[in-house]
Amino acid sequence: MLNIDSLEKGIVIDHIHAGSGMRIYSLLGLDTLDCSVAIIKNAKSSKYGKKDIIKIEGKTDLNLDILGVMDHNITINIIDMGRIVEKRSLELPKQVTNVIRCKNPRCISNAEEGVDHIFRLCNEELQQYRCIYCEQEFQK
Ligand SMILES: [Zn+2]
Repeated sequence: MLNIDSLEKGIVIDHIHAGSGMRIYSLLGLDTLDCSVAIIKNAKSSKYGKKDIIKIEGKTDLNLDILGVMDHNITINIIDMGRIVEKRSLELPKQVTNVIRCKNPRCISNAEEGVDHIFRLCNEELQQYRCIYCEQEFQK
């Protein structure tokens, strides 16, 4: 069992919108990692009331860009030797492939097999992503 208070080395994904922890867990494919992962649900947050936190032990090189698509308030802390060595704020990726899926049943990415689900950032301010095939907006 991972001791959530004393992480020697790893990643802390903080300020996750309360209730989204599990979704982000599966989105990042954390279930496929062979290191300890802890999800803390409904932690107290001075900023948002409640939040979820994910702690990943032993790994610091995960690609976390996708988190920007999901929730721009999330903050990333990289821990080494028990200390925060890096605080990373999320950037919005310009384009994401096969991470989120188009909800339009008539979209070619759903109608045909082997077509990548590709979304492009179309409005940075609104953090808005649209399917490149049918322009359907991604709903968080
Ligand atoms: Zn589409």
